Amino acid sequence: MAEQVYTVTKLEDDLLMIAERHVRMFLVLGETSALLVDTGFGDGDLAAFVKTLTDLPLTVVITHADGDHTGACGQFESVYMHPAEFDRYYSHAVETQALPVWEGDVLDVGGRAFEVIHIPGHTPGSIALLDRANRLMIGGDSLQEGPIFMFGPGRNMRALICSVKKLMKMDSAFDRILSSHNRLELGIDLLPALVEGAELQLSGTVEGVKPEMDRPCLQYNCGRVKFFCS
Ligand SMILES: [Zn+2]
Repeated sequence: MAEQVYTVTKLEDDLLMIAERHVRMFLVLGETSALLVDTGFGDGDLAAFVKTLTDLPLTVVITHADGDHTGACGQFESVYMHPAEFDRYYSHAVETQALPVWEGDVLDVGGRAFEVIHIPGHTPGSIALLDRANRLMIGGDSLQEGPIFMFGPGRNMRALICSVKKLMKMDSAFDRILSSHNRLELGIDLLPALVEGAELQLSGTVEGVKPEMDRPCLQYNCGRVKFFCS
């Protein structure tokens, strides 16, 4: 069953992508432990599927607590996230304990390490994970091309702009961004495009249209990014 729900792609020797419907998760295979980034919709037995990929002790972290990233959290003993996501996480009635990660914390699996960068906006406790040695960032839903959901509780376009500007000041530290949806790999040229698009949406000069997906919001086409806002 699990194999039908999940597909795995080797991006690098020690970095795997797991796809479930239209969301991606990432599995980092270190020398001493493994790190699972996000848990998808929870359609299948993700924990069992991950066990087919690695025997290493596993740490689970989520980029944020929307339902397409927390679905299988209940299959693991504990899940790390920014504390600003705790309310959103427990609102899904997820019983697995949430543990905190903070800005600057480093998730080290041996031979590979990811630094937590707090980027509120898409949700209050959204994080990106920066692998400085490999100049790579895992951006969750905050850093992507195409639709970005900014409707519903907790979304904050102004905070998103500040967060992306913060990353632009760090852009000498990374060249590549891996995204949870839409195009997998993006360059840092996405960052100014995101800021410009968000500022365009806030300016009120872009007309909201019926969204291309059935969602209770309007769609604002702002260059490379389409913001879904209420
Ligand atoms: Zn998502």
